[in-house]
Amino acid sequence: MTAERDEIAVVGAGLAGCLLACFLARRGYRVALYERRPDPRTGRAERGRSINLALSERGLDALRRIGLDDQVMADALPMRGRMIHPVAGEPQFQSYSAAGDLAINSISRGALNNALLTAATALPGVRVAFDHRLVGLDPVTGEMTFETAQGKVTAAAPVVLGADGAGSAVRGQLLAYGVLSESLDFLDYGYKELTIPAVGGEFALDPAALHIWPRGTSMMIALPNPDRSFTCTLFWPTHGTASFASLSSPAAIERHFATHYPDLVPLAPNLVDDYQHNPVGVLGTVRCAPWQANGRVGLVGDAAHAIVPFYGQGANCAFEDVVVLDRCLDECDDDWAAALPLFQARRQDDAEAIARMALANFVEMRDKVASPVFQARRELDHALERALPGRYVSQYELVSFSTTPYAQVRRRVRRQQAVLGAVAATAAALLVGAVGAALARGRRR
Ligand SMILES: Cc1cc2nc3c(=O)[nH]c(=O)nc-3n(C[C@H](O)[C@H](O)[C@H](O)COP(=O)(O)OP(=O)(O)OC[C@H]3O[C@@H](n4cnc5c(N)ncnc54)[C@H](O)[C@@H]3O)c2cc1C
Repeated sequence: MTAERDEIAVVGAGLAGCLLACFLARRGYRVALYERRPDPRTGRAERGRSINLALSERGLDALRRIGLDDQVMADALPMRGRMIHPVAGEPQFQSYSAAGDLAINSISRGALNNALLTAATALPGVRVAFDHRLVGLDPVTGEMTFETAQGKVTAAAPVVLGADGAGSAVRGQLLAYGVLSESLDFLDYGYKELTIPAVGGEFALDPAALHIWPRGTSMMIALPNPDRSFTCTLFWPTHGTASFASLSSPAAIERHFATHYPDLVPLAPNLVDDYQHNPVGVLGTVRCAPWQANGRVGLVGDAAHAIVPFYGQGANCAFEDVVVLDRCLDECDDDWAAALPLFQARRQDDAEAIARMALANFVEMRDKVASPVFQARRELDHALERALPGRYVSQYELVSFSTTPYAQVRRRVRRQQAVLGAVAATAAALLVGAVGAALARGRRR
């Protein structure tokens, strides 16, 4: 359907908002994107705020549908596995897939956002109002109030979609009007970014891996950038011993990194400055319901269901939301009052499933990846994947390299684990039986 339709308001020209504008314009809608920041294509990135992210199959699938995948992938750095950095000894590589051929992609968040913004604004009927911060929204009339440099302005739309991130003002307005309830679960952990610059124009570490320094209760990761630097992210407790709060003097910072991350120190000449000046970001899970009000105000992406970043899925999930919402509009013949509740019904279990898997992956990344038991388990996963192609698939593969709905992934992995457990129990019983029989034979002799 391409007949010109009413103008839909999308609040937030971030990753989900820009992609949504592209999908809506393809359906023939006019779209007004409202963004609180200035045009990011003319400004500079905020210091220390999630410079890159891992894009995998779900995000790529969405980009393919608007023909943007090749452009985005041109600057992507494929990471085929994890490189585990112990405190002492050589780093060890663990591939993500059995054949070692599947990769997640390190992408510049800014470049991705700019590519989506440019693609959206190139489409007929899409306009962007930058420096417009939503501060008011009437969920019955669709009237919005924005703070701008010129003071408060109002606008109205028949449908308002909140793609304004984890701290969504649209969600806040629905909460204030009593049409939504929310729960925010913050971790006692925060994140801070550091930089490993290029050395002599080359990457200082292997760029084909996501680097992890698992340290039990905390960790650091590093992803490569197209300028051959790496962005490291510390995931540390915010308070207590060995926390962001407890470490502030240059000498203490140097001592801590020399003890716990010794191979980083020679690679990060601005370590102390980065550490002291880059902000600590918060990490949490947002749950809310309903995701829509009156069939005219809806939430997508982090605004509806922000998750912790440990599966590298927040943006991928937000992109997948847009694909699912587009499908719901198809099925409901663009009747928003039917499509928005259908979208929530289709997506809420999936959002909950990835929220849980992301939380569980924090423990895996910061602690388990370094253990021999985890490594043996991963080898077994890969052996089973090779032996039972398509029938046994690891959770990581299903999440990162397929578009199987997240809730189905959890169910399938549970079934696989139950079968494995039963096989292991049978094997153990047979072994015990065989040993018992052998001992009995020995006693009779
Ligand atoms: C440290 C870290 C690492 C991450 N790594 C990954 C990763 O590897 N892979 C992955 O898939 N995901 C990752 N994520 C998650 C990912 O960043 C988010 O899930 C994704 O950005 C969500 O997109 P969004 O468009 O919903 O929200 P956002 O990207 O937050 O966009 C929201 C937009 O709304 C605008 N806005 C906010 N309030 C208002 C307002 N009142 N009025 C108007 N505009 C407003 C904002 O300026 C912004 O442009 C990571 C997150 C963090 C914190």
